[in-house]
Amino acid sequence: MRPLSLIGLSFVLAAGCTSEPPPAEQGQLTARINPEAGPTVYTNGLWYTEAADSIEFVAGERYAENGIFVLQRPDDATVIDLGGAFVVPPYGEAHNHSVDGPGTEATAERYLAEGVFYYKNPNSIYSFTEPLLEFWARPETLDVSFSYGGLSTDEGHPEPLYRMLIGFGMYAETDPDDLDGNAFYDVTTIGQLDERWDRVLAAEPDFLKLYLLQYDAEDSAGLSEVVFRDAVRRADAAGLRTTVHVETVQDLALAVDAGATEAGHLPAYDLSIAEDPERSRIPDALIDQMAAQGFIVVATTNVSQGREYSGEDLEIVMDQQADNLRRMTAAGVPIAVGSDSYFQTAWNEIQSLKALSVFTDEELLALWVRTPALSIFPGRAIGALEPGYEASFLALDCSPSSNIACAIEIRHRVKNGARLDVRVD
Ligand SMILES: [Zn+2]
Repeated sequence: MRPLSLIGLSFVLAAGCTSEPPPAEQGQLTARINPEAGPTVYTNGLWYTEAADSIEFVAGERYAENGIFVLQRPDDATVIDLGGAFVVPPYGEAHNHSVDGPGTEATAERYLAEGVFYYKNPNSIYSFTEPLLEFWARPETLDVSFSYGGLSTDEGHPEPLYRMLIGFGMYAETDPDDLDGNAFYDVTTIGQLDERWDRVLAAEPDFLKLYLLQYDAEDSAGLSEVVFRDAVRRADAAGLRTTVHVETVQDLALAVDAGATEAGHLPAYDLSIAEDPERSRIPDALIDQMAAQGFIVVATTNVSQGREYSGEDLEIVMDQQADNLRRMTAAGVPIAVGSDSYFQTAWNEIQSLKALSVFTDEELLALWVRTPALSIFPGRAIGALEPGYEASFLALDCSPSSNIACAIEIRHRVKNGARLDVRVD
């Protein structure tokens, strides 16, 4: 996305009138200014605050101007009484494909209704997505990060999927023979990668999507190790983060070793792989390496829930997911919330994660709140309710840290300093 309204000011400038220097680790953050948002005082809220190892809701006021939280109470401010609500930063969807081009506005509205303001689409058809980029860049719409077409091989995921969807009548005016270089890039060889790299960059993706489909198998339809490593190296040199489709622990190990940014899935969401510990149990040494690199895992446990496995089979998959997530969390591997389920949302993924009994409700809330700054818009001043950060928040009826269902009991949504009017079904 290259939004016209994304103003890359430094943290201090974005904060406007605050004279307090930003904490060092926040020095590179950028905030979106919203000149339409007037000076506002939000009173009577209980504000989400991350303490050492818990979340606290601290009573107080917040001030905002131009869509940014500021330190000092602005003059002539509109006062909004939040009525004792629990106030949290908006949530994120770090992996889905349901929001892209024309006709997906209603899906985006559903996300806003559930408190998700930030969405990451790790593969869409560029020509179909492009007409709505300016729409997604507005303060009042869902903020979407796009990779556009991912790098794979001719018959690899996602080509058959798109051919099928076009067959269903989706993606109007998209020719099924015009998918290569648009919905994906066929880079079977280094020569092809070399040839197509300029075109990949020309689309100005927000990040890059790379497909590993059991790369070490004879008949893998994804990237080879040598092409994959070269693609990660090129992306890195171009300042692009990389999201990797992984199926097995071996795929994950290659992604980590090559220095990619994140895995778009937890490995072994398919039963056939989950049944084989060699391919599904992440070794402790690899987990340590992931933690050391800050390698992100978008869990997408919801994908397995949608597979219609028998209760027994689903348990095999879920047990492996729970074991991997438990050990990754203990080691400090960052986990992001993403559903990768076309007709569902990140809220479904939260419920799938809850069903694994790995996380407390408080931990689930923290995962969801941290997902946007971690995986979707890194470097943006979002995810905290403090001066210098974008004035975006949700006011909830009850405490989500003791009951995660409260996370979507939303009475008031503010995005970039302006109240959002969304249709709630
Ligand atoms: Zn996906």
